[in-house]
Amino acid sequence: MRGVFDYIFPHRCVNCSKIIHQRDMPLCLICYANLPFTHWEMDDKNISYELIRKSAAIEKGTSILLYQHGNAVQKLVMANKYFNQPHIGDFMAELAFPIVSKHEYDLILCIPSHPRTLRQRGYNQVERFSEKLSEKMNIKFDKHLLKRTKRRDSQTHRNRTERYDSLANAFQVSDDIQQYENILLLDDVLTSGATLSSCCQSILNKKDLKISVLTMAKVM
Ligand SMILES: [Zn+2]
Repeated sequence: MRGVFDYIFPHRCVNCSKIIHQRDMPLCLICYANLPFTHWEMDDKNISYELIRKSAAIEKGTSILLYQHGNAVQKLVMANKYFNQPHIGDFMAELAFPIVSKHEYDLILCIPSHPRTLRQRGYNQVERFSEKLSEKMNIKFDKHLLKRTKRRDSQTHRNRTERYDSLANAFQVSDDIQQYENILLLDDVLTSGATLSSCCQSILNKKDLKISVLTMAKVM
């Protein structure tokens, strides 16, 4: 059955569309070998860290890949966000593991989707990534601790200050946060940093703890 299915719906590289036989890989070997890694984990004061650190006192911050218009990273992120391809979340967790595994976090969180977005899309595009990374690191992932009360509607029409204002109090943090000391917060893409900064601030307002941020990609 599998053979017939593969013949009718062959599994293709998200970037170049070449047929690939490993169904858990989103990219062919060539596109994989050419992925633009940031390697920013080697630099404590990297672009992603500095962007969020401007408005929220994070410990560490980094992004795994560079996202540019039309590149393989954009295609991976889009496929993960809009075409529910869980193997992309697993793949990203494999890439994230060596970057974060040496740090002693006691909880993994991800940026929650607004309930209306969740109803429309059917899933939160960062959850699978978070679940898989939490399994690999053997750290708890709690998807109910953060709630999103405001959506990020038409942010592209706003300037930086307006974006921050529109996201003030966009997140609700459960009292369960009190039992944790060192959190890793995940998201798919870092653009202006407004969403992540706002979420970090909401958490830090609830409890003075250590919080670090990792995103799959940084928009360049
Ligand atoms: Zn390819």
